Amino acid sequence: MNPLIAPALPFDMKPRAREAVRDLKLQQFVGNATHLKDTQRGGIFDRDFGAEYDALRTVARDTKQYALDHLDELLERFIANAEKSGATVHAATTGREACDIALSIARAHQAHGRAQSCVKSKSMVTEEIGLLPAFEAAGIKTLETDLGEFILQIDGDAPSHIVTPMIHKDRVATAKSFVRELGARYTEDPTELTMIARAHMRGLYRAADIGVSGANFLLADEGSAVICTNEGNFDLSVGGPPVHIVFVGIEKLIRGARDLAPFLKLLARSGTAQPLTIYTSFVCGPRRAGEHGGPKELHFVLVDAGRVGVLASEKRDLLRCIRCGACLNACPVYRKVGGHSYGSMYAGPIGAVLTPELERAQGGANASQSGAGLANYPDLPRASSLCGACYEACPVKIDIPKFLLHDRTRLRERGLSPKSEGATLALWRWLAERPTLFRMAIGAVRLHARMLGQKDSRDERAWLTRVPGPGAGWTQSRDLGVATGESFREWFSKRGSR
Ligand code: SF4
Repeated sequence: MNPLIAPALPFDMKPRAREAVRDLKLQQFVGNATHLKDTQRGGIFDRDFGAEYDALRTVARDTKQYALDHLDELLERFIANAEKSGATVHAATTGREACDIALSIARAHQAHGRAQSCVKSKSMVTEEIGLLPAFEAAGIKTLETDLGEFILQIDGDAPSHIVTPMIHKDRVATAKSFVRELGARYTEDPTELTMIARAHMRGLYRAADIGVSGANFLLADEGSAVICTNEGNFDLSVGGPPVHIVFVGIEKLIRGARDLAPFLKLLARSGTAQPLTIYTSFVCGPRRAGEHGGPKELHFVLVDAGRVGVLASEKRDLLRCIRCGACLNACPVYRKVGGHSYGSMYAGPIGAVLTPELERAQGGANASQSGAGLANYPDLPRASSLCGACYEACPVKIDIPKFLLHDRTRLRERGLSPKSEGATLALWRWLAERPTLFRMAIGAVRLHARMLGQKDSRDERAWLTRVPGPGAGWTQSRDLGVATGESFREWFSKRGSR
């Protein structure tokens, strides 16, 4: 697996984050793209739903929660209905098992001289289980057909965003990769670049023996999967090869098409500010008699890989995630450090809480007792300013800040917090227990704010926006926040005298 997303454990986030903050191109690409998407997301929800937006989020939250609370029942219903329509359903407890199932399907076709090549559309769960390395090791050549994933594949790079995997690259890097790897002529024109990739892929779709995809939703009532894409690559990967395998985490189940509408309204708007993805495809069984397209064999691989453990934990809400990527775009930390800094294919706020939890759940009882998941990712719960932007952006109302705080507490209880954090909190407590000193400290902060306000030249006041001494790193790439308006103590004493 790519070391960018599968680091040695325990994972130290700081060196990667420092490198990312110094990388001016990454700052520009990730900063601009996330800011734009976040702004557009707010705009499209205002325009299309206005005050109804929150009610829509509540419906989506409750619908997904209902599905999680009835997962066993929905799983049974999905399996029965999928098999009725001719699909084969497999259950994989671990990522390794999921890969082995796919390899045994491939081997059955290799015996007939096939299954040497695979076309794959974008899927986070196949990244999570390491399907590509497993296929490559078995001699099955796999082509990523999502344009962003394809560019990363030929560059030996890893995705850094759930929805826009090559957010850290631009078209110049793409042009150079196409010249180097595909022998194409140099062009930075996006349409021409897309046509080059298209010409490269078309023949490979036709020749492929296996198609692989993920799914955005599984419909229990219909026994089918729903796949949302913008490039149509899924439809080609399911339409051409004789065998198609859908890998999907079990948390993607909902009751059925009757529950789908709120998610389709929220998913594309939250991720890319589109009313809908360009393609919303439904996969219902293999090709039927008289049909000209579609796979002769359709397999669903239902992946647990820790999800049952998460479901049984206090973090079960995390399984509501529909992988829209909105919390990444809204997060001030993700915007600065990019996706590779998180050491997992799930980056940003949701990755910071989900990655350790999935690992803990996969480790079984011993990992649960020792907190192995968190012990391997001790930096992730602190990769947040706790500003709450992720919660505000989340279409299924996952309270990520609550879980980040929960993990910080667990780290402290296990003695895994950095010493400086304990010292800072001890200093704060010492100050808070001395009202006179506390008032003086607040007074100093407010004096600082007034001094900043009085200076009309930004250059003259620049020194006031920098923290000196050991805290200097905090203001190297941002201004010091300024306290303004009424203080809490002033507000409270006024309120008390009413
Ligand atoms: S946690 Fe919420 S905002 Fe983040 S990817 Fe999942 S659904 Fe989207």
